[in-house]
Amino acid sequence: MSFKAIEQIAIRKAKVTGWLPCIFEWITDDTMLVKGGVPIGAKNGRPRWGPKKSLTTVAISKRDIADEEERFEKETGKCAACEGKGEVVYSFSVTEGTKYRQCDKCKGSGKAAGAEGSAA
Ligand SMILES: [Zn+2]
Repeated sequence: MSFKAIEQIAIRKAKVTGWLPCIFEWITDDTMLVKGGVPIGAKNGRPRWGPKKSLTTVAISKRDIADEEERFEKETGKCAACEGKGEVVYSFSVTEGTKYRQCDKCKGSGKAAGAEGSAA
């Protein structure tokens, strides 16, 4: 699943203009809590939020994520796992930077399953 999809779901569910997600936490195998709020400013190009108690929480289930990925693939024809890039991040370290590997879902094509008649 893509992190961006989770962000988009959280933003839609929050129903607050300018709301951005800040903290992501799986609380069960199926449920993620996303805390966020309207940023009070920015630092080094990244949004900054107010105190934790000012944040609001939305709950996201794996079902929500699957729905979002399905919607993304229908709209764009791109693979939701890698967002059409054909590769996904598999590790990140400060010293070595970001490493990518071929996306399992689309086998590196970047296309949504079913697009161009390929069997899923
Ligand atoms: Zn992919």
